[in-house]
Amino acid sequence: MKSFIDYSSDSDFSIYNIPFGVGYIKDEYPTCVTRIGDTIIDLAALFDAGYFKEFNLEENVFEALVLNPFIELGKEVTVPIREKIQELLTEGSPLANDKDTQEEAFFSLEEVDMMMPVHVPNYTDFYSSIEHATNVGKMFRDPENALLPNWKHLPVGYHGRASSIVVSKTPIFRPKGQTKPNDVDKPVFGPTKRLDFELEMAFITNRYTELGETIDTDTAEDTIFGMVLFNDWSARDMQKWEYVPLGPFLAKNFGSSVSPWVVTLEAMEDFRVAGPKQDPEVLPYLQYKGDKNFDIKLQVSLTPKDGEENVICNSNFKYMYWNMAQQLAHHTVNGCNIEVGDMYASGTISGKDKNSYGSMLEISWSGQKPIKLSNGEERTFVEDNDTITMRGWCEKDGKRVGFGEVETLILPAH
Ligand code: CA
Repeated sequence: MKSFIDYSSDSDFSIYNIPFGVGYIKDEYPTCVTRIGDTIIDLAALFDAGYFKEFNLEENVFEALVLNPFIELGKEVTVPIREKIQELLTEGSPLANDKDTQEEAFFSLEEVDMMMPVHVPNYTDFYSSIEHATNVGKMFRDPENALLPNWKHLPVGYHGRASSIVVSKTPIFRPKGQTKPNDVDKPVFGPTKRLDFELEMAFITNRYTELGETIDTDTAEDTIFGMVLFNDWSARDMQKWEYVPLGPFLAKNFGSSVSPWVVTLEAMEDFRVAGPKQDPEVLPYLQYKGDKNFDIKLQVSLTPKDGEENVICNSNFKYMYWNMAQQLAHHTVNGCNIEVGDMYASGTISGKDKNSYGSMLEISWSGQKPIKLSNGEERTFVEDNDTITMRGWCEKDGKRVGFGEVETLILPAH
């Protein structure tokens, strides 16, 4: 398959990808878009030019501020539409010779500001990397029994805050709050001294279920539209003081950052791999068939003010102990209803060795082992005016399908 639009061989946005996003075009209007290489394509303009006629859609679902109306059409429509877009962008297609529509619909990266791709009604954060859960358990509890007794029996998670999920390039202010340093009796108030990122990915659901309805592991992926990169910002000192007994609250709800391009599960089909063996055997409702993990290379870098980028983590989504089908089956097994646009984040994705740890908490081992940056500075946690960039991509047999990046500048507390 070859597109009539040129792009470099290391582009995340090859003809095999066809992701979905929402772009603000030339500071004038928002529209749903896709991307090939460094060309952004206005899907509403393709719709208006009649290229999606065969789908008999009542309205132009791409003329929207978010992808939710498109996603809600379900896979019986969104999958063939994505294939149609792929076909239209291939050499020799009718669009390849339609200069008038290209004029209306094709834009350079500089002409488009990417927006939050979906309205997120609900956000859940899991804790599904065994390496991350083990590292945190060793640091905060018992080095000998790092995992709590429930961990291998269910995908542990909590409900997060949807309102503060923001798109890449939205700066985040250093949060203020209560902490209790070990050497004082009373809590103190001020900006967090232990601001951290968490390298995660999130999946987005495409339908509404009724209260009482459950989703099984066999069909769970039919309900998943696609995925984004997800940075679950965390204030470790606030977290340590506030989390007992109900879990994270202000240490997490001040912001989470996502990449603007939603990559569909269909685009990742060729990158499926087996997950880790689950021992002990899980309960029947969590058992699954087939390969449900994905080989997605993940990278985190830290760029200090006026400095260069330092890669500080190389991990992979394939390490996840619990897969997305199990997470969704568990989430709904009690009858909890889900909604279109919900985000379900994986939990920090760490690997076994030190350069694959997905948070500063693990990289600096709770602040005990500072890392050295190329400009000579040291870091144990994230400082003001640092930029954290996360990237993710699949690559195999000359095919590359990537997520682009989620980049966030940290501003001083205000
Ligand atoms: Ca998290």
